[in-house]
Amino acid sequence: MREAFEELMARYRVAAELAEAAAVLDWDQQCYMPPAGAEGRAEVAARLGRMAHEALTSPELGELLSRVEPWARGLDPESFEASCVRALRREYDRAVRVPADLAGELARQAAAGFAAWIEARQARDFRVFQPALERTLALTVEKADALGHGGERYDALLDLYEPDLGTAEVARIFARLRTALVPLVQAVSERADRIRHDFLASGFDEAEQWAFGLEVLRAIGFDFRRGRLDRSEHPFTTAFHPDDVRITTRLRDDFGTGLFGTIHEGGHALYEQGIPSAWRGTPVGTTASLGIHESQSRLWENVIGRSREFWEHFLPVARRHFPALGDVPLDDFYRAINAAAPSFIRVEADELTYNLHIFLRFDLERRLLSGDLPVGELPGAWREGMRSLLSVEPPDDLAGVLQDVHWSQGMIGYFPTYTLGNVASVQLWEKARADNPGLSDDVRRGEFGRILSWLRANVHAQGASFTGVELLRRATGRAYDPEPYLAYLDAKYRALYGL
Ligand code: ZN
Repeated sequence: MREAFEELMARYRVAAELAEAAAVLDWDQQCYMPPAGAEGRAEVAARLGRMAHEALTSPELGELLSRVEPWARGLDPESFEASCVRALRREYDRAVRVPADLAGELARQAAAGFAAWIEARQARDFRVFQPALERTLALTVEKADALGHGGERYDALLDLYEPDLGTAEVARIFARLRTALVPLVQAVSERADRIRHDFLASGFDEAEQWAFGLEVLRAIGFDFRRGRLDRSEHPFTTAFHPDDVRITTRLRDDFGTGLFGTIHEGGHALYEQGIPSAWRGTPVGTTASLGIHESQSRLWENVIGRSREFWEHFLPVARRHFPALGDVPLDDFYRAINAAAPSFIRVEADELTYNLHIFLRFDLERRLLSGDLPVGELPGAWREGMRSLLSVEPPDDLAGVLQDVHWSQGMIGYFPTYTLGNVASVQLWEKARADNPGLSDDVRRGEFGRILSWLRANVHAQGASFTGVELLRRATGRAYDPEPYLAYLDAKYRALYGL
């Protein structure tokens, strides 16, 4: 049976390497490709996507998988082999349940939807995007029904990004957060004038920002022999495999956009670089879930990167790059990078108000999928949701319903993973601190070896051996639990705003 397993792995590797090649092309497109290259590139990308799908869903691979499953069930469930078979079963079933025609149609619609979204943004008018979104939604409903998951339709889509959690559980977690966060945001808004942050708003030299970002990445443990940093319009992380992880950032005139974006992507990258190299091209040579992925970026960006301890070490370093920070006291600086206020745009939202943007999207997505909310009523529902959550109303569709790319490409069910990442980031940090007394003092000294080792052992080195929910339970004793995160936000923002 060992031979059948090896053959199964060899067949899987073909699909994995085709996906790897497609990822290189995508990275190039987002970082360096001239605009005229787009059309030719789209053809190659589509072909590679089809080839990878064919390799993964071939009858031979399916038969081998069924043959080795009884054998794998007899092994230690934590063994590499048993984990590979488990992970591949999940991936294989998802891939074969969506008919090839529908998959092709979804890919074409993703391109068309993206183009319509760009056009609508230029016109600042949702109606330009509406027909494309209606088509995307119809196809996504078909896909959800093909994937099938019992229960609510949303479950099938959520499961693609965060397996084994379920819509009802996400709704419960979000309701708990919402009850506590809406009044906290309200209270903070009323005291907005207590924090000055204008001195971070402009005048920060790009070359110095770049150099400082590299210095911070090096300090937290990003391995430049196995990764690199570039610039792109929208920051992202892509891992071809654990030994080649690419991150990007965007630089603006202000202090935070570039740096916190860099740390965020650096957190994603540390996860990818921590997957065992020997697992490259195997079903477990990837990450557990998007929620866990986001927990790594948020942990580094917010829990560590926006802590007072972190800046005890890094503010003097930052002053060498930015003389304007020379006379800014640490406490003023710490408060300024944590200032919170309701705003329209999710990706620019602060740590506290960010989640409210996610609750809105989760609610709208469920209503769209169930058929309760016609696409044409989306802009109105958006404004109403913003009023009830954040007490603000966007001036136009560009600052409202047209701001995110996700829906244009059929990514529905994805948004909850951002808040799940926030929730998990604090669970993991608390457990790491319990296991390593003095971890906050490490941060104060700019030492990150112990926290990185803990994350390596408990998160990164597990690859995709377990689902996100299971990984979290094994690492912290609990699945996604909003309480530690709420306690963290409550303490932090009450202290910041003197509440
Ligand atoms: Zn992220």
